[in-house]
Amino acid sequence: MITDLDTVDGDPFKNKKFDVCICGAGVTGITLALKLSRKLNVILLEGGGFEYTDHSQDLYFGKSIGQDYFDLAATRLRYFGGTSNHWAGWCHPLDSHDFTSKPYVKHSGWPIERSNLDPYLKEAEYILDITEDSEEGQRDSQEDIGNTIGASTDFRQFKYKWSAPTRFGEKYKAEIERLPHLACYLNANIVDMSLFENLSAMEHVEVRNFTGKTFKIHAQTFVLAAGGIENPRILLNCNSQIQTGLGNDHDLVGRFFTEHPNKTVASFVLEDKAKEVIAKNWTSDRRNGNWYFSPSRNFMDQNKILNFGILVELHRKPNSGATFNETLKSLVCRSQWAQSAAEKLQGDAMDCPSEDGWIRIVSEQAPNPWSRVNLGQEVDRFGMRRVVLDWKLSEIDKRTIQRATIRLGEIFAGQGLGRLHIDDWLVSEGLDFPDNDAIASNHHMCTTRMGETPRDGVVDPNQRVFGIDNLYVGGSSVFATSGFEGPTITIVQMTLRLADHLNTIHGTHI
Ligand SMILES: Cc1cc2nc3c(=O)[nH]c(=O)nc-3n(C[C@H](O)[C@H](O)[C@H](O)COP(=O)(O)OP(=O)(O)OC[C@H]3O[C@@H](n4cnc5c(N)ncnc54)[C@H](O)[C@@H]3O)c2cc1C
Repeated sequence: MITDLDTVDGDPFKNKKFDVCICGAGVTGITLALKLSRKLNVILLEGGGFEYTDHSQDLYFGKSIGQDYFDLAATRLRYFGGTSNHWAGWCHPLDSHDFTSKPYVKHSGWPIERSNLDPYLKEAEYILDITEDSEEGQRDSQEDIGNTIGASTDFRQFKYKWSAPTRFGEKYKAEIERLPHLACYLNANIVDMSLFENLSAMEHVEVRNFTGKTFKIHAQTFVLAAGGIENPRILLNCNSQIQTGLGNDHDLVGRFFTEHPNKTVASFVLEDKAKEVIAKNWTSDRRNGNWYFSPSRNFMDQNKILNFGILVELHRKPNSGATFNETLKSLVCRSQWAQSAAEKLQGDAMDCPSEDGWIRIVSEQAPNPWSRVNLGQEVDRFGMRRVVLDWKLSEIDKRTIQRATIRLGEIFAGQGLGRLHIDDWLVSEGLDFPDNDAIASNHHMCTTRMGETPRDGVVDPNQRVFGIDNLYVGGSSVFATSGFEGPTITIVQMTLRLADHLNTIHGTHI
């Protein structure tokens, strides 16, 4: 059953106690609700309606004061299905070495291993509509760029899997309507969370609809699933009983905000021989026609850098344009000062051919406690303080992208593939990332990170908030570190694992 809380008479929650109350109906909330409601009485609370509305989305506005970032009301969606309503569907599970600690990266490592999530991979792929053939057609050739770069001991070629992309609201609405033990309420905005007097367990959440009516919802177990920025915002705002907010005894809620730096870092021109080989395997399918590489653990350790994914994309079918020598000029044209110097020498304007393709890098960000989601003074219509995001990158984040690009350039030149023109900001001295656009991926992670103890995490390895017996957090805010891969497939794996845990503690595990 799905009910619009804006239109109910009376109090539908009076004298009711649910087994599990899930706050937020995005990827995490919907996956969890469907898994738990086979045996348990579940309530799923969604702040928005079935469709986008300005009044719900307005609650996501906030301020960004650090590294340039997307508009906070555009980098996520606040209605049924959540941000899956506009995600892109790139999927790749985390590498096993993403879970292990690196001696040169402070706060690295997870308290669980990849093997804890592997059993949930197939089901996560099913939920995300990833089919076997979503891998087919991806470049796997014997003799082109993939083979040449992949043969280096520093990089390995990998393949993405593609989700439809699944829109969770659209796909699962009918099933949610049908399930007898699942009650879903729309326009039900969490505005407060209350603990019992001893402060060690949750008693109820308070929700408000858009007409201003407030309701209390009681349950045995609560799961916060409102997204990587909103999860810490809600915990910090719920401060009527504990001044610093819920789960924040060690001032960790909102800290370690992590993104995936994501930027075009170079363009390239191909040698004539490489063009010929690539032309034979040409496909115009933009997703599957690219090549993807990630580093070997050895390359990361030797250079003391993080994990990353490289995307090599061709602009057009090779050989259909100019020769290597002619195209080489395009690299000069990419740099304004080099172009004007060349024009001075030759005494007239340069004819600039376009390059053959470009290189993009998506990389891991190092855990940084000063990169954080915090609360500002401005409040929303429900009196909740709005977000202030201070995204901060570190020296190792830039060095990772730098080393990856330079090494790729060496392989391109050394193996006779072509030449790279690396963007000026990457070869400049110092820490600066370009500040005129957001070099991010819309992935909000690590703000209620998982730790072994309350001193290094907000939630324990089962995603339970330290110090609060029956409060759990779901989604990428519980990631301890980010890897370079899109978070959603990992979110689904972790949510399935959380469902198993909750079924076990409620005595309903099959
Ligand atoms: C443009 C874009 C492209 C992306 N592409 C990819 C990609 O290719 N690959 C990938 O892995 N990831 C991608 N992502 C990220 C992906 O969308 C997220 O990882 C995923 O949606 C997170 O799921 P979630 O359930 O944690 O949060 P969400 O999906 O955001 O769901 C949170 C839900 O909580 C609700 N909510 C919020 N506050 C409250 C409240 N106070 N009370 C009640 N309900 C509330 C919201 O309305 C929402 O429905 C992309 C994101 C964007 C923006």
